[in-house]
Amino acid sequence: MALDHLNITIAGAGIGGLTAALILRRMGAEVTVLEQAEAISEVGAGLQISPNGMAVLRKLGLQDDLIWRSPRARAVVLRSHRQGQEVLRLDLEQYASDLNFYFVHRADLIQILADAAREEGVQIRLLQKVLRVEHNPKPVLQLANGAQCGGDLIIGADGLHSKARKALNEAGQPRFTGQVAWRAIVPNTSELPNEAQVFMGPGRHLVAYPLRDGSKVNLVAVQERKAWADEGWHIQDAPENVKTAFASFGGVAGQLMNQIDEVMLWGLFRHPVATNWHRGALVLLGDAAHPTLPFMAQGANLALEDAWVLGQCIKASPSDIPAALACYQACRKDRAEKVVDAATSNAWKYHLRPPLNWPAHQILRTAGRLAPARMVQQFDWIYRHNVTEQGASGKATEKAKETEQA
Ligand SMILES: Cc1cc2nc3c(=O)[nH]c(=O)nc-3n(C[C@H](O)[C@H](O)[C@H](O)COP(=O)(O)OP(=O)(O)OC[C@H]3O[C@@H](n4cnc5c(N)ncnc54)[C@H](O)[C@@H]3O)c2cc1C
Repeated sequence: MALDHLNITIAGAGIGGLTAALILRRMGAEVTVLEQAEAISEVGAGLQISPNGMAVLRKLGLQDDLIWRSPRARAVVLRSHRQGQEVLRLDLEQYASDLNFYFVHRADLIQILADAAREEGVQIRLLQKVLRVEHNPKPVLQLANGAQCGGDLIIGADGLHSKARKALNEAGQPRFTGQVAWRAIVPNTSELPNEAQVFMGPGRHLVAYPLRDGSKVNLVAVQERKAWADEGWHIQDAPENVKTAFASFGGVAGQLMNQIDEVMLWGLFRHPVATNWHRGALVLLGDAAHPTLPFMAQGANLALEDAWVLGQCIKASPSDIPAALACYQACRKDRAEKVVDAATSNAWKYHLRPPLNWPAHQILRTAGRLAPARMVQQFDWIYRHNVTEQGASGKATEKAKETEQA
């Protein structure tokens, strides 16, 4: 059954909101996306899109457009920070050759999604900041410009500081995790291959990978820090600050750092995964429901998965939206929690200090020598999870019934 009787409003034109808009529009719904920004442009830079996220883009027919602009990742290489000696190579080309990992420019992905959504007839309205969501008893978005916006379904895809999340869950501010991340793009004068390099130092690490035609390198430099005083959650920072923080990083890492002439700084904040993802005709998606630290590179991939499953659940029961939303939460929450936990526990592994770092790196080196395939395949549960192939709607409906009965 087509969804042409449904009017859907989505708060947030990020990766999750735009993907959901495209999927639901293609099913026939009238879809409007409200975005607070004045343009669909992206701060930030690189994103690692893994096979589980790629599966959704492939199903939407957007994969080819993305991959001709994006290098395919051949390996993830963990290195020590001083001279960049190799500690562990996760050789994707050899041990996961059937899987597609790509280094994507965020602006490219957003543009591809926004263009596809507009072509299908999605209305994307800019400068529409949601102030709060009320239930009267149907959900209504109160906008900063004084307007109100309703719909048969409202999707809160408004990121970490989600107003929709607040309407569904107990009040609580996102918590500073004690880590900050600088992000910059520099020229690839070190001729880095199509691999993600992770340089691990005490209390900090640097991730570097090429973007687009390989002439640029995306840098994410994470440092532990006691406090985050700034009002916003990302700011422009002076390049000297990141260079000083990473002064002990030598070899290629040091060369890359020296090239930074413009950098943004993020405070890394987290909420727990939301308890309630939906009520009536209001539902959360992406970071609004389950913000994650970037240490498994899964936030955007989870948002893509969410959008697909939400679409399937609505397609399965288009005339009973609350049931569709219960089915969506039942399908997604356990997975989101598991991935978020994996990302949280990855942070300390990269940041070990002496005397622990040396033996830990030796263990990794030995494991990489003895069981290189297993080191890659330990993450199969993340990367081989294909929401487009699991009959998500069928399984989801069963799961929703079980949840109701329990
Ligand atoms: C340093 C760093 C590196 C990362 N690297 C990766 C990676 O390699 N791979 C990966 O998968 N993920 C990565 N992530 C995570 C990823 O960026 C997010 O998980 C992903 O962008 C979430 O998408 P979303 O659509 O849910 O939210 P967002 O991308 O946050 O989009 C939310 C949208 O809603 C809009 N909005 C917010 N509030 C309002 C409002 N009140 N009214 C109207 N509009 C509003 C925002 O302007 C924005 O456009 C990284 C994150 C960080 C910080």
